[in-house]
Order: sequence, then C-alpha cells, then structure tokens
Amino acid sequence: MKFAIVSKGDNRSEQIMATMKQYLTDFQLEYNEVEPDLVISVGGDGTFLEAFHSYVHRLNETAFIGVHTGHLGFYADWVPDEVEKLIIEIAKTPFQIVEYPLLEVTIRAKSGGSEDRFLALNEATIKTADGSVVFDVEIKGEHFETFRGDGLCVSTPSGSTAYNKALGGGIIHPSLDAIQLTEMASINNRVFRTIGSPLILPKHHTCLLKPIVDRSFLIAIDHFTTNYTNVKSIQCRVAEERIRFARFRQFPFWNRVRESFVSDDNN
Ligand code: NAP
Ligand code: MN
Repeated sequence: MKFAIVSKGDNRSEQIMATMKQYLTDFQLEYNEVEPDLVISVGGDGTFLEAFHSYVHRLNETAFIGVHTGHLGFYADWVPDEVEKLIIEIAKTPFQIVEYPLLEVTIRAKSGGSEDRFLALNEATIKTADGSVVFDVEIKGEHFETFRGDGLCVSTPSGSTAYNKALGGGIIHPSLDAIQLTEMASINNRVFRTIGSPLILPKHHTCLLKPIVDRSFLIAIDHFTTNYTNVKSIQCRVAEERIRFARFRQFPFWNRVRESFVSDDNN
C-alpha cells in the first residue's frame, strides 16, 4: 500500500509525521505523495481540508485519515498518544471505508461561457466586499426567493458543525446525502423577504444562485476564497463524488459532536 502524510507544519505535527513515515516504511509500506492509497493528515481540521484539496483529483483511489495535534478535530479523530496503535492498524489491516457526501459548486461566467467546478468538504460561502449580495435563489429550476443580505453558506453534512453551525444551521448526520443553505444576515422587511430558516436539500435538488445586482463576489470553498466578477450563476448540489475515510475503529459522529460541543468527559 502507498501512503502520504500532510502535516500542519508545527514542530509536534512534523515530529509525528516523521515517526509515522519511518514506522510505516519499516512495515514495507511505500511513501508516495503522487499516488497514495491512504493520505494521513496530521494537524487539525484545517490541515485535513488542505489534505482533501491536495488529493481531490483522485477521490476514488485515495482514502483519508486524520491525527489531531490540537484540540479534538471533526475530521482528525486520532490523538498523538494513539499513533503507534494506528500505525500497527494501518500496517496490518485492510481497512474499512466510510463515505461522506460532498458539495459540488459550479460557477458560470456571464460572458465567454467559462465555468469553474469545485468540490467542498465543509461548505461554500458567497459574500461580497461591496455592500449586500442580491440574487435570485432557484431550487430545482423554480424561483424560490430573492435573497438580499450579507451572504449564503451552503454546507455538507460533515461541514454542518463548522461555519454552518455558527449561522444557526442544524447538524446533519453524514449518512444523509444532503446540503444545507444558511443565510447570513438577510434583509427582511416589507420589500425584501426570505425564508429565514436553514433549508436542507436532498440529492438532485439543485440550488442555483443568480446575481441580480452586478457585484464582485467572494466565493469561499472550504478554507480558500476567490474574488469573482462577471458571475452569471452559482450552482450547488450534492456531488456524485464522495470522500472516503479509512476507518479502523468506531467513533460515531454524535459522539464527536458531543465531545466537541457539549462535554468531553464520559458522564
Ligand atoms: P479556521 O479559522 O482555523 O477554522 C475555524 C474553526 O473551524 C477551527 O477551529 C477549525 O478546526 C474548525 N473546523 C473546521 N472544519 C470543521 C468541521 N467540519 N466541524 C467543526 N469544526 C470545524 O480555518 P480552517 O482551519 O482553514 O478551516 C476552514 C473552515 O473554517 C471553513 O470551512 C469554515 O467552516 C470555518 N469557518 C468558520 C467560521 C465561523 O464559525 N464563524 C468563519 C469562517 C470559517 P481546527 O482548529 O482543527 O482547524
Ligand atoms: Mn484551523
């Protein structure tokens, strides 16, 4: 089996990376950054997002696992003390795979017909540095509302505990193939009206955002933001592709939610 390691870059993560690389190589596994079967992220959730985007072009061939060197991570759920155990597990077991849904975002330009397509593990956010965003929101080809406000967040189930949660969105179990739209400070008065609640869309219910007022948009895909002008539409839907996690033990999603947000003791 071929593996690669992505580290946060701090001393602790670098040290864990070096240990894992050495031991796994001793177990006859091949270190290969180009075509890894397994990518190990050492750091936090931010590092995991980096690892995901570095290998997003080979999701069918690559599985991911995270070791966290900071506080509990959502994607990085092995602690440094367990690294030796994890190394043995990786070396000896054909691992189980757990898949989570992803968000597909397609940004189309007004002229020139160009389009950019992205996959997000957490979410896409659409904002502007230039007043409010104003766009028509279509769901499954039908006009739903005209949104005016700071922006919108469209998240995956596993991203529902990140930015989405801060916006009052619900936490969605990643076994559900869905995306969630949450508003950022929508303007609501007699003239402008939006639903106000987070919307959860199933697979194939495509959401299309069509700018009405010509603005430049700050479009973030996970941790990476790009400034777009000349935007005709932004299309969001549950992606066909999925992320594959290598699983060596159970750590149920709701336990992770509880340990991160409610209590990290076992009472
Ligand atoms: P960051 O500023 O370090 O991330 C913000 C926090 O979100 C960090 O504590 C990060 O954990 C945590 N996080 C990331 N993914 C998560 C998930 N799926 N569930 C729960 N917590 C999660 O920036 P970053 O590390 O590059 O992460 C980018 C993400 O930050 C974006 O995808 C977005 O979800 C989130 N974000 C949140 C807000 C907000 O809550 N108001 C605003 C902007 C961005 P680590 O410390 O382990 O990295
Ligand atoms: Mn971070």
